[in-house]
Amino acid sequence: MSEVTSAPSRRGLLKLGAAAGAASVVLGSEPATAVGTAAPAQPKFVPLPADAKPLPMGPDGYRLDRIGPEMYAVTAGGTQAAFVVSNRGVILLDAPPALAEALPAAISKVTSKRVTHLVYSHHHADHIAGAAAFGDVIRIAHADTARLIRAERDKTRPMPTRTFTDRYSLTVGNQHLELSYPGVNHESGNIIVHAPRQRAALMIDVVLPGWSPFSAWGTADSVPGVLRAHDVLAKLDIDTFVGGHVHRLGTPEDIKVSREFTYDLWNETRKAVAGTPSAPFFGQVEAGHNWAAFKLWYNAVADKVEPVIYRKWLHRLAGVDVFTRENIVTVATSQMLDAPKDL
Ligand SMILES: [Zn+2]
Repeated sequence: MSEVTSAPSRRGLLKLGAAAGAASVVLGSEPATAVGTAAPAQPKFVPLPADAKPLPMGPDGYRLDRIGPEMYAVTAGGTQAAFVVSNRGVILLDAPPALAEALPAAISKVTSKRVTHLVYSHHHADHIAGAAAFGDVIRIAHADTARLIRAERDKTRPMPTRTFTDRYSLTVGNQHLELSYPGVNHESGNIIVHAPRQRAALMIDVVLPGWSPFSAWGTADSVPGVLRAHDVLAKLDIDTFVGGHVHRLGTPEDIKVSREFTYDLWNETRKAVAGTPSAPFFGQVEAGHNWAAFKLWYNAVADKVEPVIYRKWLHRLAGVDVFTRENIVTVATSQMLDAPKDL
């Protein structure tokens, strides 16, 4: 303990993270060692697990992975898209602006065919705001994605030319993709793309292989929907999964682990919420200051859940020490508003 309270060493932090008292650890800054010459202090975080670290990039600054016989993923800067090569043209799955240069370069490395179809996973700009560069192609998306894009009036996200609500079978030459919607999840309209011939699937911003969820669950429209999406993904007969972010491709095991983490966080938060009445906190703040009372209640809930999650997950998934506390708040809020009864 003592080595943590003064200037937290990495080893001390890890020890503490594995202990039940992890909730009280403040991941603060390390004091500068030499006055006047030291670089700004770096915040301390638990190091990345081996299978969450960045992978080597190719010579042009991006990573091109072959997924199946005719499917590839392109990764750079922590963002991922994929494409399938048919004998009639290329089907692109997302067009992230971060891959604006990498995607055309990667495609031309493996085929001389042009992009004829572009599937939007969902409406978020970080995944499709590079779409305009691919010109007048057939764009396919969920109807809710089309509705959201229309509302944004953003020229970088051209409207889909075909939409669907539940399922869509996309056949282009010798390739066949099954697009399906498991209901509102990370975002309304966020779909699953299953490529049976490639034994692969893509779903963005739900399972991030090797990583715990981003801040506020990546602004999830529905946390129960994220759980249900995990259930659907876990049933797919695939070898490779494309999650859209961070450094590598996933496997069915990554889906299983992400599902386990997600249910753990949901269930532990459920227990803590049930065991933490909010009424006493209203007596601790200025009369009528509801926000302050809820803040204290959220803190009490997070203080119960965080150590349990740390004990089980701190070294299994990346970033557990970074956003878990605020994700507990997100889940607690979702349980009040979305799912006051058990799922
Ligand atoms: Zn998103």
